[in-house]
Amino acid sequence: MSLPQTADVVVIGAGAVGAACAYFAARAGLKVAVVERGAIAGGTSSACEGNILVSDKEAGPELTLSQYSQQLWRTDLAEFGHLWEFESKGGLVVSAKAGTQENLARLAERQRAAGIDVELIDAAGLSDFEPQLNPALVGGAFYPQDAQVQPMLAAAHLLRMARGMGATVHPNTQVTGFVRSGEAVTGVQTTRGIISAPAVVNAAGTWGGAVAELARVNVPVLPRRGFVMVTEPLPVLVRHKVYAAEYVDNVASSDAGLQTSPVVEGTDGGTILIGSSRERVGFDKTFSPRVLAEMAGKAIALFPFLADVKALRSYFGFRPYCPDHLPVIGHDPRAPGLWHACGHEGAGIGLSTGTGALIAASLTGKDAAIDTAPFAPERFEELVNA
Ligand SMILES: Cc1cc2nc3c(=O)[nH]c(=O)nc-3n(C[C@H](O)[C@H](O)[C@H](O)COP(=O)(O)OP(=O)(O)OC[C@H]3O[C@@H](n4cnc5c(N)ncnc54)[C@H](O)[C@@H]3O)c2cc1C
Repeated sequence: MSLPQTADVVVIGAGAVGAACAYFAARAGLKVAVVERGAIAGGTSSACEGNILVSDKEAGPELTLSQYSQQLWRTDLAEFGHLWEFESKGGLVVSAKAGTQENLARLAERQRAAGIDVELIDAAGLSDFEPQLNPALVGGAFYPQDAQVQPMLAAAHLLRMARGMGATVHPNTQVTGFVRSGEAVTGVQTTRGIISAPAVVNAAGTWGGAVAELARVNVPVLPRRGFVMVTEPLPVLVRHKVYAAEYVDNVASSDAGLQTSPVVEGTDGGTILIGSSRERVGFDKTFSPRVLAEMAGKAIALFPFLADVKALRSYFGFRPYCPDHLPVIGHDPRAPGLWHACGHEGAGIGLSTGTGALIAASLTGKDAAIDTAPFAPERFEELVNA
């Protein structure tokens, strides 16, 4: 399809976040053009899991965004849930030590005060949720609101629905620069031509910093690598998203070194997905047996039956990480006409809907449904100037 010469808004990136921005902007009546340098959902959205979690978030702005996003997945978009295999499976967080369980109980208390449903489980109660769990675990917490989608299907269908409302989607079209009028951004230069638009949304995920640089603004998104292991298909042996309580600390950590914590979940197809690892090694694409061995050992400690199960394959992706672990969402006053919707680290699938709706509201001058100040793009200026 040839590029349009003009649009109301150009969205850069066709991952889960760009797709949600395109969908909500088109629904708000805007003429949208999505440009993607590769294939639809060819970035991190095809190299992840699809959990929509509230359980792993401390009370604060990211949890608020996750509650808003949950509401959109579950109400606004509920009728389409089957298209992206939405499953409200619930999350079970487990503790191997009494001290860990005490910390988990305190976290649960703070989350409950913020409106999250969470039930503390004692050691005896764990097997009611997951009969295959290691009986040595001392307790846990169950989060019924945790859910899952198939991320590539979500991105593809949101884009298809946006097209149904007049949007155009252009794969194999890389943004190489911005068209400017003074400081204002007035369009994009791409490998296939120019599109003029009064609004451009940077939804380039882990590459959001590089795209921002093309507009001469600093948005410090860095890659944080993560592996996932996939087992052979099995009958249903893991019913929920199950992970160890220390996962929450690893998510919140800014340590560049390797961190692994067991995350185990079944899929509709019968395979079991095993995570998780986090390390800041740039865009290093070297396969790491050491990381996979560590993840496998920890997963077996949670579910001993996994010791006899074959892993079929593994893959990795680069989470879009910001130093304060918050995404970048909103208009950039340093480059008027440029909006950012990137840097969602390990939660961009879950947070995509809220992000898309906030961007659409901002583009059309509507009030935001939640406070967006913590996500402001210019918040990093203080870091740069410090
Ligand atoms: C191992 C792992 C597990 C994860 N598990 C989960 C999970 O369970 N739940 C969850 O919510 N999140 C999870 N994540 C995080 C999630 O994958 C990301 O936050 C999310 O995919 C980001 O989506 P995005 O649309 O912002 O980025 P992407 O999907 O990377 O999309 C950005 C797109 O921009 C394009 N692009 C870049 N530069 C340009 C340019 N110059 N011109 C045009 N196009 C450009 C790229 O090609 C890419 O397709 C996980 C990540 C990893 C690595």
